[in-house]
Amino acid sequence: MSAAIIDGKAVAEQRRQLIKQQVQQRLDQGLRAPGLAVVLVGENPASQVYVRNKQKACEDVGFYSELHRLSADTSQQDLLELIEQLNQREEIDGILVQLPLPGHMDEDQITEAILPTKDVDGFHPYNIGRLALRQALLRPCTPKGIMTLLEQAGIELEGKDAVIIGQSNIVGRPMALELLAARCTITVCHSRTKDLAAKVRSADIVVAAVGRANFVQGDWIKPGAVVIDVGINRLDDGKLCGDVDYAAVSQTAGWITPVPGGVGPMTIATLLENTLQAAELHQA
Ligand code: NAD
Repeated sequence: MSAAIIDGKAVAEQRRQLIKQQVQQRLDQGLRAPGLAVVLVGENPASQVYVRNKQKACEDVGFYSELHRLSADTSQQDLLELIEQLNQREEIDGILVQLPLPGHMDEDQITEAILPTKDVDGFHPYNIGRLALRQALLRPCTPKGIMTLLEQAGIELEGKDAVIIGQSNIVGRPMALELLAARCTITVCHSRTKDLAAKVRSADIVVAAVGRANFVQGDWIKPGAVVIDVGINRLDDGKLCGDVDYAAVSQTAGWITPVPGGVGPMTIATLLENTLQAAELHQA
């Protein structure tokens, strides 16, 4: 194996300690702790785990947090009314509606109902637009967390060729905007892309966000490339694995993120950063 491992767990822990100190400083100055409201609709088991982890992370750094559990048959109107109440409450800095929502709900309308300065997921069109215009305010957590990892690893980005596999609104697209803002040259690949392997072979930086276990092959990787694995896939034996064939790719890559312990912990640490940032915005 030749690749250096980018340890997301360690970087996330450093970030959390920093946030904890900043919360304490706020309290010492007589300011309140940042507040996050999490909304969970229905019983999706993965969503329940994510929400639990986010709430625990809030408690650990000293944030105020509250969970709103709604039944799967909640109406769109009732959810919109809850968001409006949360928008108006001063002690709530961030509102996170855990996706996916049940099929009868319009996710786009729900996302747009959240006040942009409380949109700690960074999914509101206002925040995506600001990111596109290089005037970022609240940035989507997973891509922003990846930028933190690249920075912490000391990886130069300017002028690099970056290939992103996946074009979702929450990972692939904002990742492309982040790397473009960092002056990379961007190629965004998706399920209709022709000759994906050749495109990946040209990349100095590869971000895989596909949702297919061991999809990115060892012989697709340019020697020394930086490989960021966003995928979280559960295998039949219950183990987690990424979108990258880690054993093979780590022979050729220069840098690689493991799964678990890479991008995942950074997503939660970045949610905390965004909530603190939102609290500062509301204070100003
Ligand atoms: P998604 O299903 O919305 O998007 C997947 C993308 O992959 C699509 O744009 C699709 O076009 C592309 N794709 C599918 N098949 C392809 C193929 N054969 N060739 C090229 N592209 C192909 O998924 P998402 O929400 O972006 O998530 C992707 C993965 O990342 C999932 O495993 C998800 O669990 C994981 N994820 C992890 C984190 C984290 O914090 N680590 C956060 C979000 C998502």
